[in-house]
Order: sequence, then C-alpha cells, then structure tokens
Amino acid sequence: MNRPGSNLGVLDTRFRAALRRLIEAARLRTYAPEVDVDLEIAAIMKRLDGGPALMFTGVRGFALPVVGNLLCCRENCEAAFGLDYRGIRELVTRALGNPLPPELVREAPVQECVETQDIDLGRLLPVLRHTPEDPGRFITAGIVVVRDPATGIHNASYHRLQLIGARRTAVRLDYGRHLRGIFERARARGEPLPVAVCIGADLALQYTAATMGSQMPESADELAVAGGLAGRPLKVVRGVSQDILVPAESEIVIEGRMLPNETVLEGPFGEFIGILSAAEQAPPLEVTAVTHRRAPIYHAINGYGRETVMLRKYVLEASLLKVLQAASPIVTDAEMTAGGLHRFHAVVAVRKASTQHEGLQRNVMAAAFGALKDLDLVIVVDDDIDIRDPADVEYALATRLEASRDLIVIPGARSHEMVKATRDGVRGKLGIDATVPFAERDRYRRLSFQPTSADWNDTASGDAALRWLD
Ligand code: MN
Repeated sequence: MNRPGSNLGVLDTRFRAALRRLIEAARLRTYAPEVDVDLEIAAIMKRLDGGPALMFTGVRGFALPVVGNLLCCRENCEAAFGLDYRGIRELVTRALGNPLPPELVREAPVQECVETQDIDLGRLLPVLRHTPEDPGRFITAGIVVVRDPATGIHNASYHRLQLIGARRTAVRLDYGRHLRGIFERARARGEPLPVAVCIGADLALQYTAATMGSQMPESADELAVAGGLAGRPLKVVRGVSQDILVPAESEIVIEGRMLPNETVLEGPFGEFIGILSAAEQAPPLEVTAVTHRRAPIYHAINGYGRETVMLRKYVLEASLLKVLQAASPIVTDAEMTAGGLHRFHAVVAVRKASTQHEGLQRNVMAAAFGALKDLDLVIVVDDDIDIRDPADVEYALATRLEASRDLIVIPGARSHEMVKATRDGVRGKLGIDATVPFAERDRYRRLSFQPTSADWNDTASGDAALRWLD
C-alpha cells in the first residue's frame, strides 16, 4: 500500500522519548540557577527563544523542573521527532488520513501519584506568570481533552488556563474552536463538561491539538488522529475522578469539569502576536483531581514566544501544500515564514514547465488564500529560489518582481481578528508574483559554478594564514 507517510513507520513520540532525543542531539540545555515562576522563567525563555530547549532545574519553591522552548525552532522539532521537516509534514498528512483508535490500558505512568484532597494548583505546579502585564499565572501547555456529549467524539486542543483559585482555573475559548461548540452543547443540556488537561504530552497529541478547524473536521476523533500521527495507538486510561479518557503517558493531568452556569474574568494575556489580549468572561474549570508521574516535568509555553507559533507551522504547511498541489501541478514546496509568525505569510515555490503553466502561479495565490483564512501575504517564486532563505526570497523580489504588474491585492478579505491592521478581522490580502515569465526564462538564468563536495570541515583555523602576512 502506498499511502502518504506510510514509509515513516511507527514513531516513539512520547514526551520523555522526545526529551531524550533532544539531549542526544545537543538541543536541550539545563538552567540550574534558582529562578522564580513569577516573570523570571518566561523572561529567560524569551531571551533564549529560538535556540535549544531549556530545562529549569532550580525553580524556587518547587521540586519539579520546568521545560521551556521545547518545539520552538526547526532544529528542536527535527531532533524531537527524529525526522527532518519534510518527514514532520508527512506525519501530519498521515495523521489526517489514517486515524488509529486509542488503546485503553489499566495502569498509567500519569496516575502513579493521585491528588484529590487539599489540591492547590498554584502550590502543586510551577505555573508561570509570563509578562508584567499579565494579571496572574497561566497554564499554557495544557491540552484539553473532552468527549462531545452529543457525538462521543474526542477533541484535544490547547487552551490557556488562568489560575483563579486553589482548585479553579478559567478556560479561554476563542470563537470557532471546537471546544467552544462542545462546551455550548453540554451547557444547553445543563451539564458540566468533564475534561482532562494534559501537560507534558506525547508530541503526536501536541501536534494534533495544534490543528484548527480548517485542517481538522469536528468529526475527527483527535485521540485517534494522534495515534495516526505516531503510527501506533495512543495509550489512554480512565480518569480517576471524571468519566473521561486520559492520555496515559503524560507528565501531569488535571481532571475536572467545566461549569455550565457561571463565568469568570479571564485575561488579559500577552498573545502570540506580541500584543495584550482583552480580558473577557470565560467558563470556569473546577478541578477534581491532579494526577502525575512520581517525578513529573512541567512544560510551559510563552504566549508571545516562538513555540506557540512553531507548533502550527508544519501543520499549516502540510495542509496548505495538500490544497495547492491538488489545485495546481506546478507547486513544489511552501514555507510559512518566521516573520509572519508561521501563520500570516507564505512563500510558495513553483516549477513552470511549459507555456501552458504561465499564469498558474497567480491561480496558486488564490488557492492559498482560500485554504488558510489567516494568510495575508503570498509570495510565489520559481523553484531555483531557496524558500527557507529569506535573503534568497528577497533576491527574487529584487531581480524578478515588476511592482506595477506583479502585485495583486484582494481587498476586504477575512483575516485574523487579533491583527490590529484589520478592521474586525477584515483586511486586504497581497499576492506577489516574483516568478520569471516562462517565455523569458533564458534571460533570467542564474549563474552556476562547477560542482564541488568541499565544505567547512575541509577548512582549518586562520592561524595557518598568519605566516603569509609576515
Ligand atoms: Mn478539534
């Protein structure tokens, strides 16, 4: 059988297996000095953002370490999965097409320790306060797992949880998120919604939880999608205090229920676009148990940090490529760029092979805007441009773009509500055609040099050059 990703086999995507691979690849560093959960850890994560993952081992007042900047860059993602970025994108494609139902087990590492009495979340877990403008401490790497009371389908998604009491948090529910719809259905029945919040989760579950409505139909059971991503079923165990399936190998699980009849003030919070979000009413989560491994590791994500946006990069690229390659034969690759927060800007590479292909690069722009609502800028280049090198993409703009002819603006389209340049989420979209007209390709041909296998390993220190300077 030759289906997408089937050559990837079974992957060990468990949290600790990923940490081990990061350590082996020198992509995890420990930070031993004493640090505080109030502002200090988040500040260090921000300062060292985009580099190796960090494990803070000296968290003041807590025995457990905090892991930050985990999947914050391509090098960390590749080390954590043990695959290059192409393989990671293939995993996402495989997950969407080949779900594997979870496997129910009786004993789970995450239930080695069970706390149900005298729970005080703020004392139990090193939950961070991230920026001085945040009103309190937020759990940010918690994956909320619920079962839709109407359909029985499981949903898994990231939601930030603000601590508002010893055993209470607020649950941020953005519009369009599946959890919001599921909670509304439970509320319409007057029922609380059982939830399991997983911290330190299997990477397959992390990537599944990072998919959004446009990539993942609500009918997909996301515990099964996570199994499809890893190529083996996700192990789950029954909750100790709620009728809910809990991913068995998580570091920490908070069990509880979202209450149907009250709301609490949530936020403001430093958001992924670097701007404070507004405080809003949100449903409360009442905690009924905290279960964890004997020596658990706490995972934290900076709201305004690279891990937040990197979590969606390969998911978005995989779904964008799926749409573009189905729509047009000329698309060879796509990159959601760092400056565009891996969400708002894409560079698409195309290969025009005949005069019949001329113009398709502009159809591709239209397809891209249709595929991802938040995409506001699409640059199309020929496939001799390295779309992962911003300087080479700019070279295409500098030498192949004719601005009076090659800029396409779609006014009044739907974008992301948090982008301040929109009007309530409505904004013009920009397409830039930086491809060479097919008929003129000879005139634009780039110079090439003789092929060579030499690289930096063939060179030595400059000291040997000193004798030529005497
Ligand atoms: Mn969902």
